[in-house]
Amino acid sequence: MSDSKPDLKFNEKAQKVIKEMTRFDWSVALLTVAIGSFGVAGMIPDYDKIENEVANIESTEVHETHDHSHAEHSWSYEGDTGPEYWGEFSDTCSTGKFQSPINLSATDIGSNDSFDINYSSSPLTIVNNGHTIQVEGFDEGNSLTIDGKDYELLQYHFHTPSEYTVDGERFPMEMHLVHTGEDGNLAVIGVMIREGAENSGIAPIWDVMPEEAGSAESFSDIQVNPADLVPDDSKYYKLSGSLTTPPCTEGVKWVVMEKPIEFSKTQIEKFQKAHPHNSRPLQDTNGRGIEEGSFSKSALNSKSNGFKLS
Ligand SMILES: [Zn+2]
Repeated sequence: MSDSKPDLKFNEKAQKVIKEMTRFDWSVALLTVAIGSFGVAGMIPDYDKIENEVANIESTEVHETHDHSHAEHSWSYEGDTGPEYWGEFSDTCSTGKFQSPINLSATDIGSNDSFDINYSSSPLTIVNNGHTIQVEGFDEGNSLTIDGKDYELLQYHFHTPSEYTVDGERFPMEMHLVHTGEDGNLAVIGVMIREGAENSGIAPIWDVMPEEAGSAESFSDIQVNPADLVPDDSKYYKLSGSLTTPPCTEGVKWVVMEKPIEFSKTQIEKFQKAHPHNSRPLQDTNGRGIEEGSFSKSALNSKSNGFKLS
């Protein structure tokens, strides 16, 4: 697998899947589980796990065929389609051992490697998919390089309250920047959001936020740069986790910034009006190692291949 050429078609498929991820669609959900299997296989050929995932796909298919009660109603954050029942949509949500979110406190300090982000401005495409507000459709080259691998930015979206907690502290909101590698593996940057000053980076996006669920809308006259929503300098936690929504696919490389960015009270309330609560409860750590590192946007600025300002 190490010498195989990038499978672009596969990557395109992965991108499509992730874009559609939170819109409920069974075929897409199944595909995502399948990609999750191959993603894990790409890093560690754990055949037992692949077998389990395949079993999950099979049982999910059976579920889809014989039980339409949930398939028709999608998952949600409350009631009988809420997080404690997500195992009915994908077994991994209830049986996975590397699920997200978890409480973060550094247990394995000493990882000195950082990561590079290469974000630039793109015209805004935004969707209210019924589960969150999501920004997508970035120009090519918006990417993250971590552990020697490149991941392309697919979308970013928001949760309230935060899903991860940092030393037990929960924040009013959290942003997830979701990236995919050529092999379909996922890498997500989490950014905590606390109440404070008005955020000029989110302002033009919130101005056109769709309050009701619907199709994606594009605004060629609104340019947005994801780098505006990343803290300048911050420690970060790195861990292996999962998607925090069904199908809860594992093998996701997570980087969660310790330092929050700020949204004004009005900006937080605007999101909460559209999505009052979209946060998965904390999952078991199961002895997972969490590494701590340092990120500096200004240090990246001085590198030719790093972060770009425009
Ligand atoms: Zn998320």
